[in-house]
Amino acid sequence: MKAVAFDYVRASSVEDAVDALGDDNVKVLAGGQSLVPLLNMRLARPAVLVDINRLAELSYLRRDNGNLVIGALTRHRTVERSPLVYEDIPLLAEALKYVGHVSIRNRGTFGGSLAHADPAAELPAVCVALDASLLVQGHDGVREIAARDFFLGPHRTALKPSELLISVRVPVPPAETGYSVQELSPRGNDLALVGAFAAVTVESDGTCAQARIAVAGAGPTPIRAVAVEQALTGQALTDSTIAAAVAELSVDPPDSIHAPASYRREMASVLTRRAIRTAVSR
Ligand SMILES: Cc1cc2nc3c(=O)[nH]c(=O)nc-3n(C[C@H](O)[C@H](O)[C@H](O)COP(=O)(O)OP(=O)(O)OC[C@H]3O[C@@H](n4cnc5c(N)ncnc54)[C@H](O)[C@@H]3O)c2cc1C
Repeated sequence: MKAVAFDYVRASSVEDAVDALGDDNVKVLAGGQSLVPLLNMRLARPAVLVDINRLAELSYLRRDNGNLVIGALTRHRTVERSPLVYEDIPLLAEALKYVGHVSIRNRGTFGGSLAHADPAAELPAVCVALDASLLVQGHDGVREIAARDFFLGPHRTALKPSELLISVRVPVPPAETGYSVQELSPRGNDLALVGAFAAVTVESDGTCAQARIAVAGAGPTPIRAVAVEQALTGQALTDSTIAAAVAELSVDPPDSIHAPASYRREMASVLTRRAIRTAVSR
């Protein structure tokens, strides 16, 4: 099938792009890895596409005051291979290895993945786990949205149709932080049935100083496992304390053609336990 006819606007600046945005009939085109299939299947029928691919000012990675700041148009592969990401937030580099295939990561963008808001996607879950915040620019200026408030439901976000996501600020965890991504998917590099993302900071005496955990594919949005984090903090990190903490995990996955809800719920616990144990061992 072919997309329905649409008008095409190539933005030459962020302001130009924002000026062209308005209502649901206008869509931003970033890497096109999610939008173009939706257009071709006629599941999306925008009247206008605003192409932001020439906006070099939205493609960057930089350190800023204890954060890593990532421009919305930065390609997945650039983030995955960045030495800054390896040094500061290896959880992000690890998560990106699970995002589709290399050819998809060469085109897909950091901002596109967040704006697309697939509940099983890796980057939204990492951003929720690490307390990232998103900068969006609209007709009235720039506002900041915490990742935990950004995802409202499957493919639904707090972004208004008139707003462009311009950058993402991810706080760099303390140096003594181990990390892990654990995923279950029908085939390698498919979207996950369930995924668990953990960053655990360990004190010199082996107790947990801080845990940041999120689960993907187990509800309408990425789920921050706050109760698990609280149960771990201050505890000696043994198999039994980890198992007791994971018992606090509360997720409500839907049934799907790939697996019933009960299986996904069980796997969310198994993968979360594995992610914490692996993070601690690192
Ligand atoms: C075969 C295949 C496998 C995949 N597997 C995975 C996977 O395992 N995990 C995963 O997470 N993803 C996967 N993806 C999706 C991939 O990560 C996409 O890159 C990502 O979802 C969308 O990014 P994009 O830059 O391509 O955005 P686009 O497709 O261009 O846009 C997606 C949506 O976001 C909006 N948008 C994009 N950028 C902005 C912005 N700056 N401001 C406001 N709105 C914006 C668009 O209007 C559109 O609604 C897969 C894709 C394919 C084709």
